[in-house]
Amino acid sequence: SNTAREPLPSPDLCLFIIVIFLYLHCLSLSFTPRLPRPGETIHGNRFFTGFGGKGANQCVQASRLGATTAILAKVGQDHFGESYIKNLKENNVNTDFVSQTDGASTGVAQITVDDEGQNSIVIVAGANLFLRPEDLVCVEEALASSKVLVCQLEVRPETTAQALRYARRHGVKTILNPAPATEDLDPELFELADILCVNETEAEMLAKQPVRNVKEAEKVALSLLKHGCQATIITLGPSGCVVAQNRDPTPHHLPSQSVQALDTTGAGDSFVGALAFYLARRPDLGLVEIAQRSCMVAAVSVTARGTQSSYPFRSSLPDVLF
Ligand code: AMP
Repeated sequence: SNTAREPLPSPDLCLFIIVIFLYLHCLSLSFTPRLPRPGETIHGNRFFTGFGGKGANQCVQASRLGATTAILAKVGQDHFGESYIKNLKENNVNTDFVSQTDGASTGVAQITVDDEGQNSIVIVAGANLFLRPEDLVCVEEALASSKVLVCQLEVRPETTAQALRYARRHGVKTILNPAPATEDLDPELFELADILCVNETEAEMLAKQPVRNVKEAEKVALSLLKHGCQATIITLGPSGCVVAQNRDPTPHHLPSQSVQALDTTGAGDSFVGALAFYLARRPDLGLVEIAQRSCMVAAVSVTARGTQSSYPFRSSLPDVLF
């Protein structure tokens, strides 16, 4: 069988299929009856730790589908950094380009969720902000032999831009997931992205237009193409996604299958990870079919709790997806 847990074909990076990602953080999640007020101490009733950060989530999903993946990231010289590296290794993610800095802590997210499901979140990007364009020099060679690069906006924008430039120089396909949402994306980033993949909120902010339904999403997906990317994908939660491509004047709406959603956290990252996997492994399918299959993977992820813990392995998915 072809499970993601099997050893990879070769441990070195001079391989055919590599997907490289940036950014990670550890997360701690407390459940409380209500959110604390300033200066107040309250008792919570449950506590979990986990692993998150868009780059790492996407990487773990791509790896579980069978992609050979590497993450370029910085962590602190602390327990969180050590345990994150261990987590990546357990997910078959190459960590040769994950370095530890003593200048900051590992990125962390502290999340408090109350009985009503409201949350308050503090993210400390920490070591992620120490990832500078210079740090990319040592990955250029590996990147050059990769199929896909995935970037987010959670590290310094100049680092993201440099990674995308290297990818362009070597003909590596790029996916830019401009999250967290921003209104003024550097125009160069748009141009360096082959595929811009956003959710509704990010699409609205970038296009300065509402995305309240599929029709509006199609319109916005087309309008975002004008910034210079080759394709845009807008994910729409239970409504699936829309795809617009430069070489095709008609946008496509791809519905998601209907599932019993238990926890939709991280569904967008599952989608992007799957997208990267298919682009690397099955470019022959074409972007519309690739997006359709990515929807199917992401839909499975919402049927289980947690973020990375909800991401399906290849072995649990139907063979027709591969
Ligand atoms: P989102 O980031 O919420 O737009 O979700 C990303 C992808 O996850 C979507 O394109 C869907 O494929 C899938 N997804 C999210 N929420 C649901 C849901 N409630 N039911 C089915 N699929 C979902």
